[in-house]
Amino acid sequence: MTNHFIDLILPIPLQKTFTYSVTEDEVNFLQKGMRVAVSFGKTKMYTGLVFKIHTTAPTLYEAKEINQILDETPIVSEQQLQHWQWIANYYMCALGDVYRASLPSAFLLESETIIYKNEAFTDDVSLEDNEFLIFEALQHQSQLTIHQVAAILGKKKVMPIVNELIKKSAIYIKEEIYETYKPKLVKYVRLHANYNSDASLNALLEELTRAKKQREAVLTFFQLSTTKKPIKAIDLETAANVSSSILKSLVTKNIFEFYHIQKDRINFKGDTNDLKTLNEFQSKALSEIKETFTTKDVTLLHGITSSGKTEVYTKLIQEVLDTGKQVLFLLPEIALTTQIIARLEFYFGNQISVFHSKYSMNERVEVWNNVLENKTKAQIILGARSSVFLPFSNLGLIVVDEEHETSYKQFEPSPRYNARDAAIVLAKIHQAKILLGSATPSLETYFNAQQNKYGFVELNRRFGNVQLPKIELIDVKEKHKKREMNGHFSDRMLKLIQQALDEKEQVILFQNRRGYSPVVECKTCGVSPECPNCDVTLTFHKYKHELRCHYCNYQRAMPNSCAACGSNTLDTKGFGTEQIELELKELFPDFKIGRMDLDTTRGKFGYQKIIGAFEAREIDILVGTQMLSKGLDFENVSLVGVLNADTMLNFPDFRAHERAYQMMVQVSGRAGRSKKQGNVAIQTYNPYHKILQQVSTTNYIEMYKEQLQDRWQYKYPPYYRLIKITLKHRDYNKVDTGVNWLFKALYNVFGEHVLGPTAPAVSRIRNQYIKNIVIKISPKQSLANTKNSVSKIKNTFEAVKDFRPIRFIIDVDAY
Ligand code: ADP
Ligand code: ZN
Ligand code: ZN
Repeated sequence: MTNHFIDLILPIPLQKTFTYSVTEDEVNFLQKGMRVAVSFGKTKMYTGLVFKIHTTAPTLYEAKEINQILDETPIVSEQQLQHWQWIANYYMCALGDVYRASLPSAFLLESETIIYKNEAFTDDVSLEDNEFLIFEALQHQSQLTIHQVAAILGKKKVMPIVNELIKKSAIYIKEEIYETYKPKLVKYVRLHANYNSDASLNALLEELTRAKKQREAVLTFFQLSTTKKPIKAIDLETAANVSSSILKSLVTKNIFEFYHIQKDRINFKGDTNDLKTLNEFQSKALSEIKETFTTKDVTLLHGITSSGKTEVYTKLIQEVLDTGKQVLFLLPEIALTTQIIARLEFYFGNQISVFHSKYSMNERVEVWNNVLENKTKAQIILGARSSVFLPFSNLGLIVVDEEHETSYKQFEPSPRYNARDAAIVLAKIHQAKILLGSATPSLETYFNAQQNKYGFVELNRRFGNVQLPKIELIDVKEKHKKREMNGHFSDRMLKLIQQALDEKEQVILFQNRRGYSPVVECKTCGVSPECPNCDVTLTFHKYKHELRCHYCNYQRAMPNSCAACGSNTLDTKGFGTEQIELELKELFPDFKIGRMDLDTTRGKFGYQKIIGAFEAREIDILVGTQMLSKGLDFENVSLVGVLNADTMLNFPDFRAHERAYQMMVQVSGRAGRSKKQGNVAIQTYNPYHKILQQVSTTNYIEMYKEQLQDRWQYKYPPYYRLIKITLKHRDYNKVDTGVNWLFKALYNVFGEHVLGPTAPAVSRIRNQYIKNIVIKISPKQSLANTKNSVSKIKNTFEAVKDFRPIRFIIDVDAY
C-alpha cells in the first residue's frame, strides 16, 4: 500500500510548505487548491491550502493526519498558485503571507479566529443541531474562538460548522466593515427656458399677482440666484417659506423646472448605457493601443489630464467583454474613486463587481465566488491592489489606471508587492493584455516604454479641445518683501480666487500637510513638544486644541506653557490645511469652505460626502492634501492653487522630484476640465526650481530626461533595483548591534552596493527604533543570485539568539 501525502500552504510567515498524510479515500477526493483544516504545533489549528499531492514521506518530521477537508472543489486555481509563487519569490516573502493576503478572512478560519453573533439573524430554525449549539453559546458569551467552539461541541472537526454559520449569516468574524456608498440625489430648481429675458419675467410676475405664494417663491428664487448658482429645492422652500407643492405647481406651469446635478453618473438599477463616441484623437489612441497589442503584452497610454482616457478604456473593455473574457480594472484607492466606479457602472451595469479589502467579509466572499464561477456580474472587476489576488479563470485585459500612484505598493504587512507589477505578471500568466494609463507615468514605466519593452501610445489633447490650464508661479519671497501677503495668501492668489468666485466657479487649494501647524516651538528656549512614542514633533490641531502625532496618533491637549523652561511662549510654525481653512473663512465669509484630508474623511463615507458636496456645488473652495490629486473630475473648477510647493521639493527621497511633479500636474489637472481653460497658481520660495518650471509648462519629457540622468548618476531605478532592509526593535542598542552585524555581512558579499546603515527621518515610531540598509542591484548583476545571498544572510542573522527578537523586513523595489 502506498502512503499519500499533501503539502500545504499555511497562513503563517514561514518559508516552507508543510507535509501532512492523507488516506486513500481522501487522496482520491483532494485536488490542488482545496482547503483542509489541520492542527499545527501543540494547540493551533489552521486552514491550509493543498499545494502538492505526492507519495514522499517527509524526512525531518512525522507527517500528521489532516483534520478534515473543507472544500468540494478547488477555490484557488493553478494560475493563482503560479502567481503567488512569483510574488513570494520576487518580493522575498513566505507563500503563507501571500495566501493570507489573497483569501478573504472568512476562508481562513483558525483556532484563534474570533466569531460573533449576528444580532440581526432571526432564522434559528434553519440551523442544524451543532450550529444551533454554537449560536446559542453566543447568546451567553459575546465572542468565541474556534478553539472554544471545539470545546463546546466536544470535537475537533468544527470548521465546516463555523463556515456554514458564516454562510447563513448567523455569525461574523470581527473586522472593519466598509459599506458601499449610495449617493443621494439632490433636487435643484431652475427657471424654465421660456423665461430668460427680462420682458418675459415681468410678464410672469404680473401673471402671478394673484398666486401670492407662487409669486413669493419666484421672487425669492431671484434673490437667491444673485449669490448662489445652483439652488436646491429645499433651500428655496425654506427661504420663501412655501411648501413643496407650491414648487411643484410652478413646475407644472412650466415656470420652474427641477433637475439633478450629476444624476447621469449614478446608476442604481444596473442598466447599461451606450458608450460615448470617441473623438478622433481618442479613436486614434484606441487603434494604436490595439496595434501595439499585436506585438506587445503591456502598453502605456500617456494621456494628459482630462484627455478622456477613461472613455478609451471603456471601449477596450467592451471589446474584450465581447470575446467572453474577464477584465480587471485596477484603481489606486477605492475610497477616492467613487466617480470612476459610477462612470463604469453607468456603461456596464451589472457586469461589474467592486472589490475592496475593506468591504465586509460577506461581500468579499461573494465577489470571490462570483469571479471563481465566472458569473455574469463578475465580468469586470474594479478594485484596489488586492484584487490582483482574485481567482480569475479567463482574464483578457487588465487596465491599471493612474499607474504612477504610489499606493499600488503595499508597505505593510508582507507581501510588499507593487500591484501594477504583480498585474503585469498576472496578465502574462493568463496571456492577457495590460494597459497602464497615466498623465504622469512613473519613470520606470516610461523608461520601459522608451526601451520598447512596452507599447507606447499618447493622447495629447484634452477632450473638447479645452486647453491645459494656465499655470503661473508666484514668488512668495518677493511677495513677503513687498508686503503683499495676507496670512499664507499672496495678493495674486486672492485675486484669482475672487475672480473664480465672482464667476460662480469653484476653487481647489492644495496644501500637502494637515492640521493647523506642523511645528510648535518655544520662543524662549527653542524646544518643540515631541511625541513620547516617536522621534517626531507634534502637530497642532487648533479646532480640538490638541497636539497630535501623525505617525502613531498620540494626542494630548495643547499645553499653556513650555514643558522645558516653563515660559508661556509656545509659538506655531508652518501651516497645514486647517490653518488655510480658517484663514479662508475670514477672507471669504460669504462662501462655503470645505476641507478634505485624513482628519475630515475618517468617518463613514467621509470622502464621498465631501466629494459629493463639492460636485453638487455646495462647497465653493475645497482645501485638501494629496487626496485631491487622484483623478477627480469636477466640471466647475476653474482655479487650482498650490499654497506651498517647497515642502514637496525638499523631501529627502530620490523620488521626491518625480513625485512633486506628478502631484502638482495631477492636482493642476483638476482645473478647467469641461468648458474653458482653467488657472493654476503655485506659491513658492523657489520659482526657478527646475521641477516647478517643468510643471508650469507641463513638460513631462524634460522632467523625465533630467530625473533619469540623476537616477543613472546616483544608481537608482530604473537602472538599478533596490532592496531595502529594515530592522526594528524597542531596544536601541539591540537594533544598532544587529544592523552593524548585518551591514558587515552584506558588505562582504556586495561591497559598495550596500548603503547604510541609516536611521530614517523619523527614526523611532511607536517606540520601535528603526534602521535601514539599502542594497543597489546593478543591471548586470543577477537578481536571483542577489536575493539568494540576502536570504542566506537573513537566515544566519535570525539564527543568532540575540538578534531573533528584531523585526527583519525586506522590501524589494522599495519606495
Ligand atoms: P482623463 O481620465 O484622461 O483625465 P476623463 O476620461 O475623465 O479624462 O475625461 C474628461 C471628461 O471628458 C469627462 O467628464 C468625460 O466624461 C468627458 N469625455 C471624455 N471623452 C468623451 C467623449 N468621447 N464624449 C463625451 N465626453 C467625453
Ligand atoms: Zn521653553
Ligand atoms: Zn507618535
